[in-house]
Amino acid sequence: MTGKTKFIFVTGGVLSSLGKGLAAASIGALLETRGLKVSLLKLDPYINVDPGTMNPFQHGEVFVTDDGTETDLDLGHYERFVNVRLTADHNFTTGKIYNTVITKERRGDYLGGTVQVIPHITDEIKNSIKKGVDDVDIVIVEIGGTIGDIESLPFLEAIRQFRFDVGKENVIYIHLTFVPYIPTAGEVKTKPTQHSVKELRSIGIQPDILLCRTDRFLSDDIKAKIALFCNVTQDAVMTAKDVDCIYEVPLCFNQEGLDQKILELLNVWTGAPRLEPWRKLVEKIENPSHSVTIAVVGKYTDLTESYKSLNEALFHGGIDNDAKVNLLYIDSGTVDKSNYEQKLSGADGIIVPGGFGSRGVEGKILSIKYAREKMIPFFGICLGMQLAVVEFARNVAKINDAHSSEFKPDIKSPVIYLMREWFDEKSQSVQKRDVDSEKGGTMRLGAYPCKLVKKDSLAYKAYQVGKISERHRHRYEFNNTYKEALEQSGLSFTGLSPKEDLVEIVEYKEHPWFLGCQFHPEFKSRPMNPHPLFKDFIKASLNKKNKKSSKEGK
Ligand code: GLN
Repeated sequence: MTGKTKFIFVTGGVLSSLGKGLAAASIGALLETRGLKVSLLKLDPYINVDPGTMNPFQHGEVFVTDDGTETDLDLGHYERFVNVRLTADHNFTTGKIYNTVITKERRGDYLGGTVQVIPHITDEIKNSIKKGVDDVDIVIVEIGGTIGDIESLPFLEAIRQFRFDVGKENVIYIHLTFVPYIPTAGEVKTKPTQHSVKELRSIGIQPDILLCRTDRFLSDDIKAKIALFCNVTQDAVMTAKDVDCIYEVPLCFNQEGLDQKILELLNVWTGAPRLEPWRKLVEKIENPSHSVTIAVVGKYTDLTESYKSLNEALFHGGIDNDAKVNLLYIDSGTVDKSNYEQKLSGADGIIVPGGFGSRGVEGKILSIKYAREKMIPFFGICLGMQLAVVEFARNVAKINDAHSSEFKPDIKSPVIYLMREWFDEKSQSVQKRDVDSEKGGTMRLGAYPCKLVKKDSLAYKAYQVGKISERHRHRYEFNNTYKEALEQSGLSFTGLSPKEDLVEIVEYKEHPWFLGCQFHPEFKSRPMNPHPLFKDFIKASLNKKNKKSSKEGK
């Protein structure tokens, strides 16, 4: 951490899901347009040590960073909005903090002293914040949860102290709150905001800026009222109006004067913001010439937050092809032989995303079969790639009892299995995996290199380079015993690990676009730099749609 770094703490009030992560990311994006170097941290008050073991139904997607940390999905927003590569040091939970403090206590580091929330836990939180600070101008620290939650108190106390430690000219607090419009009263209500700020002030934090989430622009009168009751200046009360597309948020914040106000409070001088790339992006998003429907056949279809990065990556692929991407979520648990054709008939492209657990696996395999046979562009990601191999083995190579040993541990033909020994590029050593190892402890996680071994492959056409790096999160791998048999039946292994012991990409050549990858490309897609595989998948799906329409004479 350099002496000149300034800090913005972002808290949220009234209720959850106001978009605190997006707000933090958008503030970062906006400051970046002014030439500042920005980084972001997320502090999560829950007790889990990391979100890796949390249920996606409850918690949404687990975002994976290059260094293999399983993090909160807000880090995905940060990486999509701001030019940063985040690591284990950029996301920590109450569980991680307590874990460190207890380890120190057991080691005797506290020399017999009584270990307490203040100062030991709060000190550890402050240390973790400082540790996560790279050599940047501004660090934005988002505190998870909502003001009033019991578990966020130590975090709030730590950030209160933080201003004293680093000087008040170096820290501001931004509070995201909710200003609802009540139709029966015909007006917006400021009371929830007043209460939330009162709560925050009672623990010693006076917000400097209020971001008011609302469905309409707040009038000067309302802003004046909020300012008076919440003890902030009127020009620090900002409307955070609902928008159609998340990539509009930085522009909306700029219109409200948010970046100007932040810089004034932190006493930072910069040039004018360069908003042109964001404006162009939003313009492109608002006026697409085409549209395409992609079926996402997965397990967590009720909670689309579980596929956050995937949805964004598909959206980015659409932007590049001047197309609006309509997503058709299909719960694979409901797909069976009697209905799969009907359920998938509207899809121009089919995706089977990553996943764990056996529910809906056969539905996914049927969907892959449909995509392969009907020549519909297919993109299999992680589990989706593994099941594409299973489908191909069963139905094309006629290995009838093929499966992944994840779902049938004693299956005769485990085309996907737990590899016991492989060369790990990260540690540059041979790794051994024990089938009975603890959950969470044995995954291949984070960025791994991959060679694109065939120049005429879809993968090579997309990336245009011979060596790539992508992020992983899985235990099971392709079983090389079946490589030859599947190759003879037409499956092509186009991406391999440098030592060629791990299969990273499979393709089926007798098809317009059929690709499965063992990694998660969606984590690296950016709105202004869409991922090549998503670009090409959407392009192929658009072609499919056009062919279908011309056949039907539309
Ligand atoms: N369940 C599979 C595995 O562990 C796939 C994981 C995933 O799709 N992320 O290998």
